[in-house]
Amino acid sequence: MSTRTSYFPVDQRLEQVREATARVGIGALLVSPSSDLRYLTGYAAVPLERLTCLVVPAEGKPRLVVPRLEQPAAEASPAGGSGLDIIGWDETDDPYAVVASLLSPRVETVAVDNHMWAEKVLRLQEAMPNVTQLLAGEVLGPMRIVKSGEEVAALREAGAAIDRVHARMGEWLVAGRTERAVGADIEAAILAEGHERVDFVIVGSGPNGASPHHEVSDRVIADGDAVVVDIGGTMPSGYCSDCTRTYAVGRPPAEFGECYAVLRDAQEAACAAVRPGVTAESVDAAARNIIADAGYGDYFIHRTGHGIGLDTHELPYLVAGNDLALEPGMVFSVEPGIYLPGKHGARIEDIVVVTEDGGERLNEVGRDLVLLPE
Ligand code: ZN
Ligand code: ZN
Repeated sequence: MSTRTSYFPVDQRLEQVREATARVGIGALLVSPSSDLRYLTGYAAVPLERLTCLVVPAEGKPRLVVPRLEQPAAEASPAGGSGLDIIGWDETDDPYAVVASLLSPRVETVAVDNHMWAEKVLRLQEAMPNVTQLLAGEVLGPMRIVKSGEEVAALREAGAAIDRVHARMGEWLVAGRTERAVGADIEAAILAEGHERVDFVIVGSGPNGASPHHEVSDRVIADGDAVVVDIGGTMPSGYCSDCTRTYAVGRPPAEFGECYAVLRDAQEAACAAVRPGVTAESVDAAARNIIADAGYGDYFIHRTGHGIGLDTHELPYLVAGNDLALEPGMVFSVEPGIYLPGKHGARIEDIVVVTEDGGERLNEVGRDLVLLPE
């Protein structure tokens, strides 16, 4: 396996999460294949119908319950290299009963990971009818929201990889091609630049750019189009990239230039507002006020950003009403946008890490409007 496995801090993460579980008074955490499982054990298992479940009691040893046929893969992951007990179950066993048998009869509450399949949640409930189920996000959210130095380094690597894809956009984004064809080239480049998986490719040309989550279509890109390109993937480390740039193919309408200048200022102001102690909603307001003052307030129809890590969208969310105080190590997108229905859209997105005295962007590719061909 890769050398990464040797330094993944399984023991440290499991002890931290056990302490946090005990602190909030939950009897045990039950974590199925998900980013939570990967965060805690380094085991990047795929969710399947057979139950894989990490059991972390507030008191006692954590154990990983896996189908016998998955045991070699679990052993080969960082989980196997740590002191974590891996318990295999056979095809004729009831894995839910196996999980229940690992918990003390005194346990009254368990917390299941937020992405556990409903089928598994219900079968665990059946196996432990007197136990109340809660969500593990309460315990894991506060842990995952602040990234370690290694995690920030992994996100920096992801940011550099997606920057390299944007830097090559002129090779693919030309008038006369469809969004779909451009998107296919971008997908190949996301992998070629070091990602393990493509998570999403948005090529929103002309009026399609006004739909923030448009993906690709058969629309032929025309001379004078503004094109929103929002792309991201997952690195071998498990950490994600997410970066948007807006391009102009040929010369866009003058109105678009004005709108883009406002957006550019708003994104800059929001990035500059990031520092420890300020609230998540204040970063949103920094961007939103500039856009509203310029008269585009009704056309900025989403929050300013989302946390990113092992998931593309995770805590914290930069949105009005979130008075969470930012802390060093939090990482999130800053991505205001302006969307004019039937005309065009624009968005600029960088990933930003909160440092000891401000914020640092993990995307460095230029933010001034690029007119293609350059
Ligand atoms: Zn994005
Ligand atoms: Zn994003």
